[in-house]
Amino acid sequence: MGVDQTRTENDYQRRERTVPTYHYRCKNCGYDFTEEQSFDDAPITICPKCEQEQVRKVFSAVPIEFKGHGFYRTDGASSSSKSGK
Ligand SMILES: [Zn+2]
Repeated sequence: MGVDQTRTENDYQRRERTVPTYHYRCKNCGYDFTEEQSFDDAPITICPKCEQEQVRKVFSAVPIEFKGHGFYRTDGASSSSKSGK
């Protein structure tokens, strides 16, 4: 604790650009979500869906990156124009 004192300004800026994304899951309703938080932020404990304090942080081996890819899929928005794949 208190080790953050040694961080330089440059290090801080780099940290600003790459905000770590944490993965959470609600034990109550099973709601699965990610949240961008800095290291200083307190972990989320309350589920945004059912509002129960049952949220646990999920540690995934691979860091999640949102680089503007077509990550989000809107199922149902496109009525199967292509039946392949
Ligand atoms: Zn929940």
